[in-house]
Amino acid sequence: MSTPIGNLRDITLRALDTLRAAELVLAEDTRTTRRLFDAYGITTPLRPYHDHNGATARPSILEALEGGAIYALVSDAGTPLISDPGYKLVREARERGINVCPVPGASALLAALAGAGLPTDRFLFAGFLPQKSAARQRALGELGQTRATLILYETGPRLLAALEDIATSLGSREVSVARELTKLFEEFRTGPVADLITHYREAGAPRGEIVLLIGPPDEAAQTSPEAIDTALRDALTEHRTKDAASLVAERFGLPRKEVYARALSLKDDTP
Ligand code: SAM
Repeated sequence: MSTPIGNLRDITLRALDTLRAAELVLAEDTRTTRRLFDAYGITTPLRPYHDHNGATARPSILEALEGGAIYALVSDAGTPLISDPGYKLVREARERGINVCPVPGASALLAALAGAGLPTDRFLFAGFLPQKSAARQRALGELGQTRATLILYETGPRLLAALEDIATSLGSREVSVARELTKLFEEFRTGPVADLITHYREAGAPRGEIVLLIGPPDEAAQTSPEAIDTALRDALTEHRTKDAASLVAERFGLPRKEVYARALSLKDDTP
């Protein structure tokens, strides 16, 4: 069941009823959930359930549920299972025929999408990107081809590097940084990726929690030969020919060989 992502009042009446009625609440971090409980006078017993104890905790939890116990599952913030623990528990519970009821509410990804001003008709949530730049660029090249707004979870210290990788892998895209949602310093910064890079180079790493959104590709601009050459020239300033060709081929969904040949001829043309 979902809990607030900042503002403690973002909890549904049904969520409060469920937390009070459950025999036990499984919590990612019991200290965090205790603060929520204290705010609402909830005294239901808490038991930790997280990535490190999940495998050992699951058998007894599932046994109790099969015996008719009613438990609630929460993560530190937002909706469990969304870049948070709970998937294996839900899957195994379903496999055993145990009833699983979602109690929906806050999730950072939907709050960010609702406020960013980027297209909402199609979106793709991809959680956290890999931490290393090469793997991140590969992931962006793959995900960024989808005709949808891409939603990612990011951290302040890695934000600038992620924006630079977006510019390298996807070219000029509209992006949005949604920060500290539902909290005192909530902020949306939406614009071309180059503008946001300039801003964060000057301002430094932002504090707090961040959702990073990338607007869908501009189909017309994407496939023109000029756009491919521009992307290749940019990539060749930072990468070896083979790597530059791979990045651009992935980004435009073109055969690698073809792009490599074009990269070689662009290099030959360079005075
Ligand atoms: N399960 C959660 C949900 O439903 O949103 C997400 C958990 S994930 C471990 C934590 C990440 O979500 C943070 O690193 C940040 O990227 C994003 N996030 C959570 N709360 C946020 C907030 N108030 N503002 C912006 N991003 C937030």
